[in-house]
Amino acid sequence: MTDTVLKNRDGQAVPPDRIEAFQSQIRGALILPGDPEYDSARSIWNALVDKYPGAILRCQGTADVATAAKFAFENNILVSVRGGGHNVGGRAVCNDGLVIDLSRMRAVHIDPDAQTVRAQGGATLGDVDCETHLHGLAVPLGVVSQTGIGGLTTGGGFGWLARKYGPTCDNVIEAEVVTADGSIRTANANRNSDLYWGICGGSGNFGIVTSFLYKAYPLSTVLGGMIAYPRSAAAEVLRGFRDIVSRAPDELTVYAALLWGPDGTPLTAFVPCWIGDDKEAGRQAIQPLAEIGNPLVVDLQEMPFPAMQSMLDGAYGPGSRNYWKSAYLNALPDEAIDTIVAQSEGMTIPGSGILIEHCAGAAKSKPNGDNAFAQRGHDYLIAILPLWTDPADDADQIAWARTMHDALAHYSAGGTYLNYLGADEDSAIETAFGENLGQLKEVKRKYDPTNFFSANTNVSP
Ligand SMILES: Cc1cc2nc3c(=O)[nH]c(=O)nc-3n(C[C@H](O)[C@H](O)[C@H](O)COP(=O)(O)OP(=O)(O)OC[C@H]3O[C@@H](n4cnc5c(N)ncnc54)[C@H](O)[C@@H]3O)c2cc1C
Repeated sequence: MTDTVLKNRDGQAVPPDRIEAFQSQIRGALILPGDPEYDSARSIWNALVDKYPGAILRCQGTADVATAAKFAFENNILVSVRGGGHNVGGRAVCNDGLVIDLSRMRAVHIDPDAQTVRAQGGATLGDVDCETHLHGLAVPLGVVSQTGIGGLTTGGGFGWLARKYGPTCDNVIEAEVVTADGSIRTANANRNSDLYWGICGGSGNFGIVTSFLYKAYPLSTVLGGMIAYPRSAAAEVLRGFRDIVSRAPDELTVYAALLWGPDGTPLTAFVPCWIGDDKEAGRQAIQPLAEIGNPLVVDLQEMPFPAMQSMLDGAYGPGSRNYWKSAYLNALPDEAIDTIVAQSEGMTIPGSGILIEHCAGAAKSKPNGDNAFAQRGHDYLIAILPLWTDPADDADQIAWARTMHDALAHYSAGGTYLNYLGADEDSAIETAFGENLGQLKEVKRKYDPTNFFSANTNVSP
């Protein structure tokens, strides 16, 4: 039982008659502390986050979103915006304020002739992939199907199609946005083009995206799966990975990981995904990854793209405690690989992982200022991902991630990936926006001068 109530930013309780008046204007459920659904409604993917909002509105449509924004603005209430609830730093929820929850707004509509996809702001990657697949199309998104498109897109978006077609934010054609004044704006290259620029990579700073219009690309099946070696071979296997992916065509994306098998065996594994039409060329491009040493598992299959998109879901389900650190590297010299392998000794809980995403490709081909996404030039994104369940392990797991991150600092290319930032990494937000920070502040001053949208990777006006 909690004694939380909805408060304004000055800490005063919002009078019940105002909450009742608000309730009478909305279609969605307003969940308040004490309601039977309150605890499930406030919980998000990362169980390390334990926030107590004053109210949660499960919006039923754009009208609810606009009404909620107006109500919160007029009453000086802190808001947070929940898409898929996957932000590791828990930015979907807030204490005492109003969560504008989009998780009931998940409709997806495909225009097969135009090869475009309109998706509501609370859709998950799985929602989009399921509908696009019907038409033999796919949008460049992330790699775990329960992730929300809202946070993923506004923060960048790396997945199996990004090396060929750029991160998700580069594939947004238009967005419908509810801004701080509660008005509904269309943002594209011609209308509100500065807002469009900011939405594509500038996080949730400028408004709530109620729908995105994306470019889609022909794709039905991919060649993917897993190749696993013993963890003891990690140093050799990661050197082989580096040499192979640096020559790979953009149709092939490979993530390497130090992790555990289902039976607790420590592994060094690759997850390759070939998105080209010529599957034989894909097999030839992937085969060298299976010939670095003596693999324990080589499991490659042609599969429907949505199957590839949900292959990692089981390993990253909700309910565990998570703390992430990440770093971009522009090269993987032997010394960096040896550091990764040495630091993996501190990774003690199965389920945890160290992920090396090879992300070089189309993201590089756009200049940094083309939209707000500022981290384009990098070859590798390393994510340190401790995962555990017992709160008694919090301090050790967090300490390991920090220690490893510090050890890698020497090899880091600088910059940081906005979408992997933890709750304690607000000081890295400016680094993530890099050269685009000045323009982001200008757009922020125009559309959100009071920093109404602050519970995010925040740009202060
Ligand atoms: C298991 C897992 C797998 C992941 N895989 C990938 C991956 O493959 N590639 C990758 O690039 N990233 C990946 N991520 C990171 C992911 O992109 C971020 O966590 C992202 O914030 C998740 O979006 P969400 O909508 O689920 O977030 P939420 O937690 O719901 O929201 C986070 C923030 O996003 C903003 N936001 C959300 N929806 C909207 C909206 N409609 N309008 C405006 N702002 C909005 C808000 O500022 C909010 O505070 C993964 C994360 C997890 C936990």
